[in-house]
Parts: sequence; structure tokens; C-alpha cells
Amino acid sequence: MVAVGETTVLAEALVQGLKANFRGAVLVPGDASYDEVRVISNAMHDKRPAVIARCTGTADVIAAVNFARTNHLLVAVRGGGHNVAGTGSCDGGIMIDLSAMTGVHVDEKARIVRAQGGATWGDVDRETQVFGLATAGGVVSTTGVGGLTLGGGLGWLRRKYGLSIDNVLSVELVTANGEFVRASETENAELFWGIRGGGGNFGVVTSFEFRLHPVGPNVMFCGVWYPAEDARRILPIWRKFMESAPEELSSSAFFWSVPAIPEIPAALHNRRAIILGAVYCGAAEEGERVVQPLRELGAPLLDLSAIMPWTTVQAAFDPFFPKGKRHYYFKSRYLSNLNDETIEALIPNSVNPPVPSVLVVLWNYGGAMSRVGADATAFMGRSAPFLLSVDGIWDDPADTDRVIAYSRRFLAEMEPYSPGGLYVNFAGLGEEGEKLVQAAYGSHYDRLVALKNKYDPTNLFHLNQNIRPSV
Ligand SMILES: Cc1cc2nc3c(=O)[nH]c(=O)nc-3n(C[C@H](O)[C@H](O)[C@H](O)COP(=O)(O)OP(=O)(O)OC[C@H]3O[C@@H](n4cnc5c(N)ncnc54)[C@H](O)[C@@H]3O)c2cc1C
Repeated sequence: MVAVGETTVLAEALVQGLKANFRGAVLVPGDASYDEVRVISNAMHDKRPAVIARCTGTADVIAAVNFARTNHLLVAVRGGGHNVAGTGSCDGGIMIDLSAMTGVHVDEKARIVRAQGGATWGDVDRETQVFGLATAGGVVSTTGVGGLTLGGGLGWLRRKYGLSIDNVLSVELVTANGEFVRASETENAELFWGIRGGGGNFGVVTSFEFRLHPVGPNVMFCGVWYPAEDARRILPIWRKFMESAPEELSSSAFFWSVPAIPEIPAALHNRRAIILGAVYCGAAEEGERVVQPLRELGAPLLDLSAIMPWTTVQAAFDPFFPKGKRHYYFKSRYLSNLNDETIEALIPNSVNPPVPSVLVVLWNYGGAMSRVGADATAFMGRSAPFLLSVDGIWDDPADTDRVIAYSRRFLAEMEPYSPGGLYVNFAGLGEEGEKLVQAAYGSHYDRLVALKNKYDPTNLFHLNQNIRPSV
């Protein structure tokens, strides 16, 4: 391996060795599509792998893992490329790129969908909606099924059908030694426990099998924007409303600024707002009735609520997250409750971000996702009533330091209102290392280390929220 300028280059013979045993494209710096393919979602991470292995299936994944291990390469695994910490790519190593593995197959009768490890939620929704079915994914359709599911998976179906991991029936994965393994409740059950929340630590998942539910084709979407100054009055009403809301309704409250786009009157542009967002996944007309009280809490700046196709709801935020264009720093903390004191503490930072595009989200938990046993999966935090996520989003690199400083300060100020713990998929830059991972997994940490010792004792897969082996 040699370094040429800022780029590490593998010996040509090595690359040819991989190509000989690989069906997909193998890209190295200088190849025509290399610069396009290496881009990941977060513009903060402009990384240049020495080789990109664009896998077409399990055999390619096995070949790439064996190649990486044998040649002692740094390994990044890319699914949808949305990880804010940029772990889907690396400098100088190999990117095991699953983004061409987007196959989705629906078994309508059994209500099961199988998705390849690089599929996005848009891929899954598109195929499952042919049959009026869906599973629990995220709220942006371009996010990868892989990373989102392996960390837990929060979306609009969480109160009715749980987290993404609560719907996983089985996975197929390639371990660090290049072995193909299946995991489910009945096969490699401990590994199955670990992959449901433990991230990409144990291998490369080539396919996920999820349980499906009848959803759509139309659902009721609630998106009502009130002036941020009203948050002190509105948030307690929303909290109380959600205490008795039907489980078909999953809801989050967002602090955001009205986007400066031509579809919205210029007078409202950049106005800070508190948005009550919700989706009712049962009969749409019933949902319209259920969310009506949320739409009558004052004079809204905007009310985008409507009955709409499930696939439209799932893609509604996509335009705000173009690939490789914006900068992201998402970080989270669980909240013990959303009482008046907590609301008072979070309002100043939520209302006055350093740049208007910063999003602050209060994810309401409860329902199905909170009924799953605390130790049934590796995921932690089901019993918390709310997750606060501070989603730093900005365009000008000159704002990087102040947005990150703001996010850290905000979360530090909220520490007294947190029972501890955070969502591993909103890990900022993962800069706290092992401390962050231990905070995310709490009492599950040692059990995850034992699994890591078994499946990846040399820590081949360490570009992730890393569970370090102890052997
Ligand atoms: C715009 C945006 C919206 C988001 N919305 C949500 C949301 O609604 N709900 C939510 O819960 N989270 C959400 N997230 C967070 C998201 O879950 C994580 O960023 C997640 O890591 C993204 O997965 P990915 O496959 O797209 O990312 P990648 O960067 O491709 O992968 C992230 C990591 O996951 C692992 N990985 C990915 N695929 C595989 C695989 N097949 N096998 C093994 N390991 C794999 C690897 O360790 C990799 O480093 C959002 C993030 C962004 C940027």
C-alpha cells in the first residue's frame, strides 16, 4: 500500500486479486465513478477509501470480508450511507459497499418482507405498499434499512408495531471470518439478540426479514406548525394528549424553522416553529378525527396535515437531506419526563439555534415499542417516555464549530432531566468512543462484549459505535 498525496493506493496485483473473485464493480481512486460512489450522506465526511467493493450479493460480501481481513485493511460497511458519524466510509481502507444490494421480496400471504442489506426504506415501502403492507422503518426514505435497523429503528409505526428491530424475524450475515450465518429466535439466538440494537459490530448483514402489517395506502399525517413562542403552552397539551392517544398514532414534536422555499409565503421563511407531527396508521378518516385537537391549539403558521399515501409521508422529509450536500451532527438523550420543568429547560436552546436549519426533536415513546421486554433485545431505553434529539443541520462549513458546540452545550444542560442513556443511531461524531457506547448499552454492554468476542474477536468491524472485544 502506498500513499499518493492524500490517497492511499493498493498495489495493482492486490486489486486484481479481489476483482478475480468479485461480481460487482471494484473501484479505486482515479476510476471514473469513484468520486461519485464514495459520497456519503453527511458532507462533514469527505473520505477516500483505497478500494470500494460494490457487492452484488452474499458471495461478494464474503469475498470482500476475506480480502479485507487477509490484507489487514481498515473496513467500513456502507448500507444507506446515512450514519452521521460517517462510519459508512473510511480513508485508506476498504468500503464494503452494499448500496447496490437493494433487492426486496414480499411474501404477501405470510406477511413477510425480505430486504437485502443495502436497501433503503424507500425500496422497502415501494414493494410492500403494492400489497397495502408496511413494516416499521424510519422517517426519511433514503435512510438505509441496514444501519437504522441494527441500531433500533424509530419511525412513524413505533407505538403500534414497535421499533424496526421488533419486526425483524431473521437476518443473514457474513461474519469477520467470512462465514455465512443465519440468526433468528431459533437459530443463533444470542446473535439475534445482539444484532437487534448492537449495530454493525458482528458482521455484514446481507438480508433482513421483517414482519409486515396492513398500513395505507392512505394514512392521516398531522403536521401543524405553531409559533415557537407558543411552545411553553403547547408542549404540555401535546404530552397530555399523547398519554391517552390510540397506539395507531405515533407522534414527535419538532422545533424547526420554516424552510425558505417558494411553496411557502416569504413572510414565514425562517420563522422558528414548534411542529406537532404525527401519523395515524389505522383508517385514515378515523385518524383525521383523532388528530383534530392537535390542529386547534391556536392560529398555526402552517398546517400541512392531510390524508396522503404512506409512501408520500415516508418521503416527506427527503428533500431536506440531499446526499453529500449538508452537514449533520445528530445527538440525543433520553428524558425522564416532559414535565413543565423539563420543558422550561429545553425551550431556550430549541427556540434559539445558531442556524435556522437546526432541528430539535422530541420523540414520544410508548405503546408497542415500550412493551417489549427491556432485555429482549440489545436496544436500551424502551422505558423512557421521550427521546430528545438535537439534529444539527447546516450548509456553510464555517458554521461547523458553533453548531457542534451548541449541540453539546444543549445536551449537557439537559443532563439533569435525563435518566441517562442515548440512542446509538444519533451519535454525533461518536467522539466519546467507548464512553458513548457504554452509555448507549448500559447493562447490556457486557453481554454484547461477549458476543463480539465470539463473532469478531479481532475487531475487524470497528468503524461503528464500537463494542470492543475483551479477548
Ligand atoms: C437524514 C437522516 C434521517 C434519519 N432518520 C432516522 C429515523 O427516522 N429513525 C432512526 O431510527 N434513525 C434515523 N436516522 C439515523 C440512522 O438510523 C443512522 O444514521 C443509521 O446508521 C443509518 O443507516 P445507513 O445504513 O443509512 O447508514 P450507513 O452509514 O450506511 O451505515 C451506518 C453503519 O451501520 C452499519 N451497517 C449499515 N448497513 C449494514 C449492514 N447491512 N450490515 C452490517 N452493518 C451495517 C455499519 O456499521 C455502518 O457503519 C437518520 C439519519 C439521517 C442522516
